[in-house]
Amino acid sequence: MGIIEARNLTKVYGRQVACREICLSVEEGQIFGLLGPNGAGKSTLVKMLLGLVHPTSGEARVAGRSSLDPRSRREVGFLPENFRFHGWLKGQELLIFHARLAGLGVEDAWRRADEVLELVGLAGDGRKLVANYSKGMQQRLGLAAALVGDPRVVFLDEPTSALDPLGRRRVREILLMLKRAGKTIFLNSHLLSEVEQVCDRVAIINRGAVVAEGRLTDLLAGP
Ligand code: ADP
Ligand code: ADP
Repeated sequence: MGIIEARNLTKVYGRQVACREICLSVEEGQIFGLLGPNGAGKSTLVKMLLGLVHPTSGEARVAGRSSLDPRSRREVGFLPENFRFHGWLKGQELLIFHARLAGLGVEDAWRRADEVLELVGLAGDGRKLVANYSKGMQQRLGLAAALVGDPRVVFLDEPTSALDPLGRRRVREILLMLKRAGKTIFLNSHLLSEVEQVCDRVAIINRGAVVAEGRLTDLLAGP
């Protein structure tokens, strides 16, 4: 059984079928990419996996529990698309706050905040106000916030949308480092280039349905 499981997940909004009978299984330690055009249903699927949206039918599971079980949230980090922070906090303070929310004690929270700042390349910026961060720095801070609780599974929604090529490369390197540390990463993207360089497996979603799933090299080779 995968650490992330979508079992016949369907979500209907009014007459709009956002996701239709989606089945996916992601093994622990993999980087999994979900590719699809805008409106395909990617965010809805991720929200069901995160337990933020109730499926119309089917079940979402993470780390052996239903996504609707609050305990599953401890296992999960999440970087939403275009996440923005309040400017009146320092980067380090924001991460300490997130670490405390994730259940860490004060000393551990300070230590982890410094670790993840270093990991995302913001070690020298932790004492600056977030108001003075560039968009790319904010996105990396968001990644640090998703990682600060040391989750087993990390969901990243378009994690490089605000980044220049150098920033993209840095995020790629971070993802590969996390993989070496045994983390499972679920990457939502509309950019093939972003997905192809890091993902072990991908699913392609269109109009709410998974139209292909497997290793990207196999998918690109065609039937
Ligand atoms: P993606 O993330 O791939 O852009 P979404 O999951 O956001 O796709 O959307 C899939 C479809 O579901 C779209 O047609 C969108 O308009 C619709 N949708 C998403 N969320 C809602 C909502 N809260 N209410 C109504 N329709 C929604
Ligand atoms: P490298 O050899 O390139 O440093 P490793 O295989 O040692 O990579 O990966 C572990 C590194 O990743 C450590 O520096 C560790 O602090 C960092 N790391 C792993 N998982 C996380 C996580 N969830 N949050 C923050 N840092 C992490």
